[in-house]
Amino acid sequence: AKMPAMDAIRARIRDVPDFPKKGIVFKDITPVLQDAATFKLTVDALADRWRGERIAKVVGIESRGFIFAAPLAYALGAGLTIVRKPGKLPWERISEAYALEYGQDALELHIDAIGPGDRVVVVDDLLATGGTAEAVGRLVARQGAQLCGYSFVVELAFLNGRRRLGSEQVSSLVTF
Ligand code: AMP
Repeated sequence: AKMPAMDAIRARIRDVPDFPKKGIVFKDITPVLQDAATFKLTVDALADRWRGERIAKVVGIESRGFIFAAPLAYALGAGLTIVRKPGKLPWERISEAYALEYGQDALELHIDAIGPGDRVVVVDDLLATGGTAEAVGRLVARQGAQLCGYSFVVELAFLNGRRRLGSEQVSSLVTF
């Protein structure tokens, strides 16, 4: 998309120091959502990356990933797949653990959500270390689907998540 669009998005990402704990600068995307024009620009810019790529499913990561994955799926005429924290999905599912700063967590996917050969895009609000998105990539691979790439609204470049995921696989709208 055009640079002014990215500048408008960047201008509405709010730094909140020491949230959720001391030393973390939280990138708050709620101002992007609250402004009608900026929210539309953001979804359009995400969609521009994937138009014409025959995406079957957009995979949204709980919970802020859902906010962007749903309108992106609609814009692309694709299905929406949700990856959730343990204990949230009701049907048969697979699980992948990933490391946190302290300890570990897991993400789950319904076994009928994506299938062999499906062209999928994984979406989250923000790329930090890439551990979360990498675990979702493993869920996608286990189902035999074809991961076309990852899309983020925000990328924290200094954490090198892009390198972890494979740089050519990653697109983001705004980089800090
Ligand atoms: P990571 O697995 O390190 O790439 O972390 C990515 C996940 O954590 C995403 O779901 C983000 O929403 C969230 N996250 C990590 N760091 C931040 C941050 N500084 N501001 C907002 N969200 C963050």
